[in-house]
Amino acid sequence: MSSDCIFCKIVSGAIPSKKIYEDDDVIVFNDINPSAKVHFLIVPKLHVESLLNCDSQHQALLGRMLLLAPKIAKEQGLAGFKTLINTGREGGQEVFHLHVHVLGGGEKTPKT
Ligand code: 5GP
Ligand code: ZN
Repeated sequence: MSSDCIFCKIVSGAIPSKKIYEDDDVIVFNDINPSAKVHFLIVPKLHVESLLNCDSQHQALLGRMLLLAPKIAKEQGLAGFKTLINTGREGGQEVFHLHVHVLGGGEKTPKT
């Protein structure tokens, strides 16, 4: 838990979110500023800044996050979707708590 991290605050419930899935390790909620009809974020409960801060100890967690994408996308009615992980400021990352974007529901989802 990082006290000034917005996603840690969502994990703890201090900031509300439109949660669509939760287990012991991961929370999934709708993006507050969606770029597609369906746009949710898969977020580990553990505070890890980005993929640049991951190593082999995060392997299982990363695998679980990716496997949740098709499961929840199907539950949200998507037949296909785009996944996106922005990494580092130069990679377009704005919230420095690892997350996977899942976007879909339009004829074509945006590239970024
Ligand atoms: P990044 O650029 O870091 O990959 O994306 C961060 C995403 O988090 C953005 O799409 C932004 O809309 C979303 N976001 C930022 N703050 C909040 C928040 O307080 N609640 C929710 N649900 N999404 C947020
Ligand atoms: Zn955090």
